[in-house]
Amino acid sequence: MIVTVEAGAASALMRGHPWVFREAIRGTRGKGKTGDAVRVLGPKNELIGWGLYDRDSPIAVRMYGWDRAKPQELVASGAEPPHPKAVEESLVRLVKAAIARRSGLFDSSKTTAYRLCNGEGDRIPGLVIDRYGAVAVARTDGDAMGTWIDKLAPSIARLLSADGISSLLARVEAEANERKVRSLSGEMPADTLDVLEHGMTFEVDIARGQKTGAFLDQRDNRRHVRELAKGRRRVLNLFSYAGGFSVAAALGGATEVTSVDAATRAHGTAQRSFKKNGLSLEGHQFVSADAFVFLENAAKRKDRYDLVISDPPSFAPNERSKRGALAAYARLHRACAALLADGALLCASSCSSHVGMEEFLGTLDDTALGRSDLTVLESFGAPADHPTLACFPEGRYLKFVVMG
Ligand code: SAH
Repeated sequence: MIVTVEAGAASALMRGHPWVFREAIRGTRGKGKTGDAVRVLGPKNELIGWGLYDRDSPIAVRMYGWDRAKPQELVASGAEPPHPKAVEESLVRLVKAAIARRSGLFDSSKTTAYRLCNGEGDRIPGLVIDRYGAVAVARTDGDAMGTWIDKLAPSIARLLSADGISSLLARVEAEANERKVRSLSGEMPADTLDVLEHGMTFEVDIARGQKTGAFLDQRDNRRHVRELAKGRRRVLNLFSYAGGFSVAAALGGATEVTSVDAATRAHGTAQRSFKKNGLSLEGHQFVSADAFVFLENAAKRKDRYDLVISDPPSFAPNERSKRGALAAYARLHRACAALLADGALLCASSCSSHVGMEEFLGTLDDTALGRSDLTVLESFGAPADHPTLACFPEGRYLKFVVMG
């Protein structure tokens, strides 16, 4: 199948944007089913590259290969769809390049969990692979990559085994409390395992946790919180999940860490991680509650904290929900700011790809917070195992702002 896109989309794709939205398609030749490799051309038949087609999604094509370097004469002959085996080889080559991109990033005596493949950010549409020691967990986004994952698995497993990874799993939809992974290659490991992150030990719930088990994009920010917690006694970690920031704060010296999350199960994981780092649970609290309700009650109690961390789930799953999301962030941040003791810090994070850094800072300004004494000290994003494309701001979803 050949997909011809309009000029604006062609220019974005040439700059490296990885998606063709359905409304940008000017014409198609031939028929395609979800997962097929399709040839993408510009309005003047310029060669742009190859992508995986999705019949139903608003993202009609996700690019996996750009061939701008090839001569224009190839327009005619280059329209032939590649053999599925060739597509498979291209995708595996991309995974190999992604793995190579991580070489030298981590000292395995300190960090054993990291992202091996970051989907579009690694130019591999819709495929995320996270490493947890000897186990890798793949997650596909969109049905197109979903049709490929089983075919790619043996080759990917071979690449991973050279790196000491013996099991490759895939995330699947499952009922609450059922295992959310199946094995693509190798043995099914135990439901939970321990990993290292900058020397800190974390239990990861591979079988029933969120995403692929952990939020690896906050790794460096967790280490930073460990530093920030020095000399700060009372810490509030909102949306704490498996307690990553809580453990980091306690290791940094905080003696009263309050972790708040709606998911009760995650508190069990958090508590075991405390113990695995030689921390006693004494003085620390694990609260199963809605964070907004907790904040209201904490304000009534006049609770005060020396460090507050807020890392909610994405409030803006799409562009339409952005206004409401910005209002929710502002409300959340104001409630957090009201609990800060003198000289305290606020770490405010967002993983909404539709909310840019400037917009996010707008939810932390004086009007949003209702006070005029705080400043932005630092701001961070995701670490190098989460690469992004220069012309794909959606990939730079993570924001972590330190105020004080
Ligand atoms: N900070 C964590 C990741 C947080 S993910 C880390 O570093 O690993 C977001 C978390 O927010 C999830 O665990 C989810 O259960 C929780 N959550 C979602 N809505 C919530 C709410 N209204 N109140 C409290 N927790 C909520």
